[in-house]
Amino acid sequence: MAQTPLQYLKKNYPKQKDSLSVFLKKFDDQKIIGIQKLVEDASAKAWKEVDCLTCANCCKVMTPTFTKKDLKRISAFLGMTETEMYDKWLKTDEDNGDIVNQKQPCQFLDKKTNFCSIYEVRPHDCATFPHFKRKPFNDFNHIHEQNIQYCPATLKMINHLKDTIDAGFEW
Ligand code: SF4
Ligand code: SF4
Repeated sequence: MAQTPLQYLKKNYPKQKDSLSVFLKKFDDQKIIGIQKLVEDASAKAWKEVDCLTCANCCKVMTPTFTKKDLKRISAFLGMTETEMYDKWLKTDEDNGDIVNQKQPCQFLDKKTNFCSIYEVRPHDCATFPHFKRKPFNDFNHIHEQNIQYCPATLKMINHLKDTIDAGFEW
């Protein structure tokens, strides 16, 4: 049987984290012309290899940040007031003031199917995760460095990107 995304992550992250961190940190002060196209290609390869419905690790171990607009939209969808929704499931992060989930896995995850029960109105953070399309790449290298430990698609994407850059660029 082919390995699941989480099996891939558990097997590869521990042995790859140091070299991938070094690779990603280089983007703090170096630019590669055409990086967005390289990221697009690496992302396309990663998405051919990972199906989020066989994973859902982001919903199980991370929390999205809820914006005020998210809170308004989701509470209306659920037929609750924003305060009721906040009190039931959310809290404010003491370090940065972000509104986040009280617990993991996320209360909106259907653990049998890995579907999001509020998919149509899910937080913007969830809709854009794992942030492969965010630009410029050099502003998101530190986010990818955090996410390679949780997200198999990110681990694959960064590996593909590193392979391409190692093979074709001197930096
Ligand atoms: S975005 Fe990443 S962590 Fe979330 S379900 Fe997809 S592969 Fe898994
Ligand atoms: S809101 Fe939906 S997509 Fe976002 S973490 Fe919860 S279950 Fe996952």
